[in-house]
Amino acid sequence: MDLKLAGKTVLVLASSRGLGKASAAAFAKEDANIMITGRSEESLKEAEKELLSLSCRGRVGYYVCDITKEAEIKALVEHTMKIFGAVDVLVNNAGGPPAGTFEDFDDDDWQRAFDLNLMSFVRAIRAVLPSMKQSGGGRIVNITSSSMKQTLDNLILSNTFRAGLMGLAKSLSQELAPHGILINSLGPGKIATDRVTEIDGRKAEQESKKAEDVRRESEAAIPLGRYGYPEEFAGQVVFYGSFANTYVTGQTLLVDGGLIKAL
Ligand code: NAD
Repeated sequence: MDLKLAGKTVLVLASSRGLGKASAAAFAKEDANIMITGRSEESLKEAEKELLSLSCRGRVGYYVCDITKEAEIKALVEHTMKIFGAVDVLVNNAGGPPAGTFEDFDDDDWQRAFDLNLMSFVRAIRAVLPSMKQSGGGRIVNITSSSMKQTLDNLILSNTFRAGLMGLAKSLSQELAPHGILINSLGPGKIATDRVTEIDGRKAEQESKKAEDVRRESEAAIPLGRYGYPEEFAGQVVFYGSFANTYVTGQTLLVDGGLIKAL
């Protein structure tokens, strides 16, 4: 299938590792121009090298940016426009908020999670809209969590802001459709990134178990019997972020091997 991404420009937030980097690589394989972002120049240089080693036809750039800062997001989009001339596809992604229950967090914690997991997406969308409107269309994909459909224990910050994002994305799908801009949200279940390995490692320590046993138990709860690969998740990001997707907007799709049973 021609995903109609060759020569388009894709901006992927928080893409020095994990699902963001896997998504950037999948878009690179479609010969799009890619702008990756993150807070560490060193990690971004490494990620850029990896993307360039795929020897695709598009160009690759990076920009150091803390996505919790409005001014930095504005500067990131201005930089992307300067280098590539447009932003055709925006992939919103961020680190996950800290784990915990209601009484673990004060107002500063709530504000940080709001800035990281909701406002970063709002600000990035605001900054790319003029380019997408000018070129007559665009695609936005939000990387969120299965907590959009079913709350996760001990993750109250994620449960709150991911739900807010669903409302935002559905409203925007209505407002942006006349401009040819389609927006969808993808929720990972358990995809084997460094973050998931770190979480399993911490759980193993707390429960005095081996990390492999924690992973095996966790995989047993997934109908497909295993964690997903970042490339599998990225394949969905690329489709919904592509111009082959001409009629799906405002949707929330889980990529979870059947883990979540909510309808
Ligand atoms: P990850 O921790 O491997 O990657 C997150 C990236 O975000 C990192 O590159 C990190 O440097 C970057 N980041 C964090 N804060 C940032 C900031 N202020 N500015 C710029 N960059 C920042 O995580 P992942 O596994 O790739 O997950 C990506 C998203 O998906 C997270 O929000 C996570 O909570 C969510 N998620 C992932 C899974 C999974 O199975 N991997 C499951 C549910 C939800």
